Parts: sequence; C-alpha cells; structure tokens
Amino acid sequence: MRKDEIVIDVITSQQSITLNLLREQKLIKQYMFKSKYNLSQISNRLCIVAMLRWAICENLNANFSITNFSLMNAEATYLKSEIGLLIDVMREKMGNTVKDYIPMLDYSKKESISLENRRFIDNTIALGFSNGKDSVCCQLLLKKSGYKIENFQFDFDDADFSHDFHTKYNVNDEMLAKKYSTQAIFLNNNVSYYQEEDMHIIYLAPILLSAHKGYYTKMACGVQWDMLSQNGKGITIAESFASMKNLIDLTKLMGFQNFGIILPISAISSFGVYRILSDEYGFSKLEDFNSCWISAETPCGSCTKCIRVKFTQDILKTCISGNFYTMLNIIEQNQIPVDFLFGSQNICKLLNNLNRENIRDISKDLYIKDIKPEYDAGFSKIIEKEYGFKEAKP
Ligand SMILES: [Zn+2]
Repeated sequence: MRKDEIVIDVITSQQSITLNLLREQKLIKQYMFKSKYNLSQISNRLCIVAMLRWAICENLNANFSITNFSLMNAEATYLKSEIGLLIDVMREKMGNTVKDYIPMLDYSKKESISLENRRFIDNTIALGFSNGKDSVCCQLLLKKSGYKIENFQFDFDDADFSHDFHTKYNVNDEMLAKKYSTQAIFLNNNVSYYQEEDMHIIYLAPILLSAHKGYYTKMACGVQWDMLSQNGKGITIAESFASMKNLIDLTKLMGFQNFGIILPISAISSFGVYRILSDEYGFSKLEDFNSCWISAETPCGSCTKCIRVKFTQDILKTCISGNFYTMLNIIEQNQIPVDFLFGSQNICKLLNNLNRENIRDISKDLYIKDIKPEYDAGFSKIIEKEYGFKEAKP
C-alpha cells in the first residue's frame, strides 16, 4: 500500500502557531493555537511539537514531511514514541495489518539549542480549569494540601478567544480529511475509538506561560481513574501514563527540569468525584457541575453527558441511602452501553462485575490507592483522610 504524502507546513508567530496540512499543495486541514501572551523560543518549540503530535496522530493514514521547522533528536523521539503508542493500541484491536498505517516522517534535523536557566516555583500549581466537576474537585483538593493555584482555561472552539489559550482545527476538504483521519481507520475496522481533543498542549500550559510570568510550575489535571490507563491503552491516548511520561521526558530535555503533571483525582472514579462534591456542597448542588455538551445555560437533559451525570447521580443517591438493590436496577435499566456513556472500559468492567454480595458503597469502593504515586502526588492519602474513602479490595 502506497500512502499519500502530506506536507505539514509550520507557520509561527510569538502568540500563534498554525499547521497547514497540504496534499499536492492543496490545503486539507489546518490546526491552530493562539495564546494571549508571547511564547518564549523554547515554549514555542514545545507547543509546535505537541501540535505536530496532534496533527499526525489524528491523521495517521499518510506519510508526512514537515516544512519550515527542523526537529531536534528529543523532539523526533517524542513524536515517534507517541505514534508508537497509538500503533500499539491499534495492533491490539486490529492485528498485525496495522503496520501499514505506520507513517513515514520526513524532516530536517536541528542541532540542540542553548537552554536558558528556568526558574521553578514549587508552592504554586497550574490547574486547567473548566468549571466542570473534575476541575472543581481538583481545586478543592489542591487548596486542602496548601498549594497556591493558578487557574487557566483552554478553549477548543471559542471563536472570540476569550481565555488564555485557544486551539482548534479547520477541515478544508472533508473527503480527504476523512481519508487520512485515524478515527476513520478505526471506524473502517469496526473498532470503537475515542479521540476527542487528544493532544498534549493542555498539559504544557504552565510552560507556555513561563516567558510571561518569569517562572514555571507543575501542572495539575482533573483526570480521574476511569479515564486513565497504565500503558497507552486508554481511550484517550494522551490521558495515559505512558503518553504523559513521553511529554515529561521531552520537557525535561528542553530545560524544564522540574516539570511534572500531577493528577489529584487519579485515585478515584467519576463516582468518587461526585461523592466528594456532594460532601462539600450538598447533594442538591451536583446539578451545577454538569457541563452539558449542547447547552451552555440549562443542561439539555438528553445529550450523552447529561445522561451520564444523571446516571452517576442516581447511583450515588442509592449509595448514600444504602439502597444497593435499587442501584443494581439503575445499572440494569440503563439504555446506553456504560463504556460508551463514560468513554471508559474501566467503569464498564467495574459495573458489569458488580454482584449483590460485593456492593457496599460504590463511590468508596472505586478508590484505587496510589495508582501511580509520582502522578498522584499523595492526593489519595488526602482523599482517604478527608472523605473516608477506602482502598478497593482486589
Ligand atoms: Zn446535555
């Protein structure tokens, strides 16, 4: 199989990065990043490389040549490792034919650049804040552990660019974009794949702002246990430990020695997050944390997100009242497959394995101690102490 050649043309300014994907000089797709603040030379590079990852991993069915940007060894290694994770996931689901999809990368090489000495602040943490339940819960836990928090927002489709960072892509040729898209490869093989916003730029935020602030911090993200995986096999590859490790390795080589990503709620599931929020704010307030996918004001009640929130709340309500038989009925009567509802095989497996003997309090039982201590950064201990969670029995 001979694959089409896609040129990725990199266009940068101090506050924006655009990747144009071209086939025979025709624009197929365009990826864009905007920041309100100037990026330093190094954070500009990191952002470009994270965007290259995004563009390549989303359009795997082609070979790529990168123009207007030369890659250093560490950057090329990062891109190849990330492609490798994706190929591993595909191999597991589609078998060995997947080797046809491994893209060739053509790029010019760059000698290493001189790195500045970066100032790191460790009592402060950057938090990607969306107002959703996960970031609210992270904020709460970070405050309890004494961190100063710097909230910032990413927007994916906000045309007005009203927040710190803005990323989006434009499709110029629907048919060709589909031909190259990784999503289409999965669909054609009848394998489910969850790829929404699968990128690393969001994790880089404290570094991208470092030129403006004069220092950088670690990054906290509200990713819960049900979205994470130990290797690259998560539904969103960017939210796997393996993929985060690739990014951290790259940033360290680029001179951000202390950079790390911590995941305060990685030891608990979506159910556990709601449990904490209902402890703090009362059960009736849980509705406020539903960031409906359709409506910005009143939740629509019918999108998958709204259905998921309702499902979680129903289960939580029965957990709190101790009515476990009702909980089983809720799970049995749920119309939408649970893995689809949560975008998570972990939750699906867990709910499917419930039986009348081992159900006690699902929000407490869904607690997995120290899923990976270097990412959890001790937050499972705080959760255990403050909210009475117990380690899940294997
Ligand atoms: Zn909705």
